[in-house]
Amino acid sequence: MTGSARRLAQYRRKRDFTRTPEPRARRGASRGPLRFVVQKHRATALHYDFRLEARGTLRSWAVPKGPSLDPRRRRLAMEVEDHPIEYAGFEGVIPAGEYGGGTVMIWDEGTYTPLDDVDPARALDAGELRFVLAGRKLRGGWTLVRTGGRTWLLMKRRDRHASDVDITVAKPRSVRSRRLLAGIARDEGGDAAKAATGDP
Ligand code: MN
Repeated sequence: MTGSARRLAQYRRKRDFTRTPEPRARRGASRGPLRFVVQKHRATALHYDFRLEARGTLRSWAVPKGPSLDPRRRRLAMEVEDHPIEYAGFEGVIPAGEYGGGTVMIWDEGTYTPLDDVDPARALDAGELRFVLAGRKLRGGWTLVRTGGRTWLLMKRRDRHASDVDITVAKPRSVRSRRLLAGIARDEGGDAAKAATGDP
């Protein structure tokens, strides 16, 4: 079993692919620049899933408050299981009763570059990665640092992309479809009223 297949075992174990429209892990590493995606997820609780490509999987964190452009606002980021690369294209509804049941929006996406020329997988294994995001909403320098166990902090670094604008409020729509959570739920057979509680 390859390293990425081993890292995706938990992802597969948690899901019934006869019931959820989420992707099975089929493809390996993508070619070209490293991808990132932030998926806004109205599950039991609203959160933002922050995912960085590293060695053929998406390393993943659940960020309850979502990213902040303000370097003073460090965001709690709980490490969760790696997801397959193709998960970055998933927007839709996970059926109620399934793992993560609720509505998923592609809130931001793009590419990223590790700073200091590091191997991002190795840096994350060591508990700290500094990187530059080139997304539609999130840009510039960021740091992820492990503070213990599965607990990390996600922080904007000070640069011209830092701001005190609350980006989660200012830019609430999908970068793929321009829909709000309620619109995604309505279109994909989900619970639009519940999804709407995650919209501003
Ligand atoms: Mn999630």
